[in-house]
Amino acid sequence: MAKLDTICVQGGYNPKSGEARVTPIVQSTTYVYEKASELADLFDLKADGYFYTRLANPTVSVFESKLAELDGGVCGIACASGMSATLLTVLNVCNAGDNIVSSRAIYGGTYNLFSITLKKYGIECRFFDPDASKEEIDALVDEKTKIIFAETIANPTIVVFDFDKVAEIAKKHKVLFVVDNTLVTPVLFRPLDFGANIVVYSSSKYLDGHAVALGGCIIDGGNFDFSATDRYEEFLVPDESYHGLVYASLGANAFGVKCRVQMMRDLGAIMSPENAFLTNLGMETLALRMERHSENAAKVAKFLSENENVEWVKHPSLPTDKYYDLAKKYMPNGMGGMMSFGVKGGSAKAAEFMEKLKMIKIVTHVADARSCVLHPASTTHRQLSTADLEAIGIKDNLIRLSVGIENAEDIIEDIRQALESI
Ligand SMILES: *Cc1c(COP(=O)(O)O)cnc(C)c1O
Repeated sequence: MAKLDTICVQGGYNPKSGEARVTPIVQSTTYVYEKASELADLFDLKADGYFYTRLANPTVSVFESKLAELDGGVCGIACASGMSATLLTVLNVCNAGDNIVSSRAIYGGTYNLFSITLKKYGIECRFFDPDASKEEIDALVDEKTKIIFAETIANPTIVVFDFDKVAEIAKKHKVLFVVDNTLVTPVLFRPLDFGANIVVYSSSKYLDGHAVALGGCIIDGGNFDFSATDRYEEFLVPDESYHGLVYASLGANAFGVKCRVQMMRDLGAIMSPENAFLTNLGMETLALRMERHSENAAKVAKFLSENENVEWVKHPSLPTDKYYDLAKKYMPNGMGGMMSFGVKGGSAKAAEFMEKLKMIKIVTHVADARSCVLHPASTTHRQLSTADLEAIGIKDNLIRLSVGIENAEDIIEDIRQALESI
């Protein structure tokens, strides 16, 4: 099998004689067939092919295959955003009355989805502290639990998840283990190798890498046996909306096929062909970029940890960091460019510091080629109460820094002059 950096460049697309060298944008909602029976076979899943872009599109498929190959999964399902990737994953297995057991250290948007929006539809979320013991997490799982959810490195608290601890619980109860791997990407860590069954991404971040295309993706590991448990009843009975298909009978393809032919058909949150093209282009340099993001972040974290105007720094490359050992174990080749730190003087000084930066801009986005900062307490997380913020480990002076791929000396110089002038 090709190495990951080769798959980033070459994966997913293998043109035949006379075809375009670069993945073309197939800007078409629909596809032509000469015989009605050809189309009928597609609807019956007897043949592979395209019939409507809400279900599949050739440009989008290239992105899906490349990411699935990078992660070691059986298929990818590209979505319009990272949020829709998580939503479709949940709805593919959860009905009203079911529950999700999730780490509390997750992206703010996912936290809102789980704690507020899904609740309105009768899906409950039980949060656990990422540092909770195995017994405490185990106690949250009951017969209605359909998903255990976590993030590899949580944004913006920079908590590295303890995979071995939780994979064992998921395996014991035969519950699907879903991991959001957005901020690490498969070139630095592959959750399927550590017990995950499904991986979700916001491709709007490092996969695209240039802040030009919103998107997400679901990777099915194909490593969960839906017929070995009665927990997922919907996979065991005929789907009346898809001429009586029993998904568990598809083996390794059960989750992915159901997600596409039922969830994507009904909810329609597929990635656009143009965004798939841009994300593909970005992914060609993913391995190179992640190496540079990781190196730069380690240098910046060291600088911040030695600066007297800085109260605290969180980056797992620092030997003093709480998650140093876990990060070394799971991400030996780098931990990405995300970090957070607190300036002395609280919320007001945090805002002042950000305004003094010259090259590094204030944006809500993270994880693209350009370094950027954000103050979550007053922006992305402002919908959360102070108690909620504290519960997920966000202090009022926390600055989220996404270290880009510029020269590390220029990034450090900008931060140094801003720290000196507050
Ligand atoms: C941004 C992000 C999301 C949501 O992705 P969108 O593409 O913005 O919908 C989910 N998880 C993580 C970790 C993120 O950083």
